[in-house]
Amino acid sequence: MKRIRTIDLGYHGLEGAAASHLIRTDDGPMLIETGPMSTLPALQRELETLEVDPESIELVVLTHIHLDHAGAAGWFAERGADVLVHPLGCRHLVDPSRLNASARRIYGDELDDLFGEMHPCPEDRVHPIEDGKTISFGGIDLVAIETPGHARHHHAWMLDLDGMRQCFTGDVAGMRIPGSDFVTLPLAPPEFEPETWIRSVDRLDALDFDRLHLTHFGPVDDPSRHLARVRDRVRRETDLVTRLVRDDSLEDSARISLYRQWLEEEADGDNIPEDRFRAFVNRGLLSMNLGGVRRHLEHAATGR
Ligand SMILES: [Zn+2]
Repeated sequence: MKRIRTIDLGYHGLEGAAASHLIRTDDGPMLIETGPMSTLPALQRELETLEVDPESIELVVLTHIHLDHAGAAGWFAERGADVLVHPLGCRHLVDPSRLNASARRIYGDELDDLFGEMHPCPEDRVHPIEDGKTISFGGIDLVAIETPGHARHHHAWMLDLDGMRQCFTGDVAGMRIPGSDFVTLPLAPPEFEPETWIRSVDRLDALDFDRLHLTHFGPVDDPSRHLARVRDRVRRETDLVTRLVRDDSLEDSARISLYRQWLEEEADGDNIPEDRFRAFVNRGLLSMNLGGVRRHLEHAATGR
């Protein structure tokens, strides 16, 4: 039986957009990432298909607390699951009101379809895990690797399983359009920091993994090549978006078209069907990235 199952959450109605990872251990199943509340029914269905009672999950491991990764964590914690997260993420899991309110401000009524609101995790179920700490569960050792840049409170999680050194990378190893090697990046506000991100990518690369598991989406069996693509793209994409946001002659709609055009040229030769490219390189992603780079430039200018 496969110990690690990548569960496709059907996020945004798309195949290969967001994952939760089920790991079977000697002491029962655990999840790495839960996905958002909006896809909890899909996750529950998939778990049941795999003969796992969703209420029996005792351990939930999060790379970070963005709603598309951690939104459903409260549901599992309410049913007794322990939740492991970077220390900076804890308070938002216990009291997600600020997280939910800021998502509501950004997405309005669309929030419910896109992510749904996070339920609070009971405080005694949330465990802050420091960089480098090893957690043992059911015969598996999980090591937290602090990997900021996309978010300050980001961990990748390393484990040796099935004779391979594997890593669950959250967002720090970028995203990949399914059926291709093409990398996309969530340069999300308010904590995007390109230099920090590249240092985190270098840190992962030095650990010489056999396999990465991207939340968006799935296993990567040539980690070094993939990480080289991510590193290169964080640099060049930040430069491009910086030029776009600094160009006062442009409206955001024009910035978004130019940005999409640039990515289309980057993807030239990757043979991605047009409709899939448009679905994954969507307006929401591009406009979020403009916001993330803007926020980063403001922080850099004010020294914060
Ligand atoms: Zn994220």
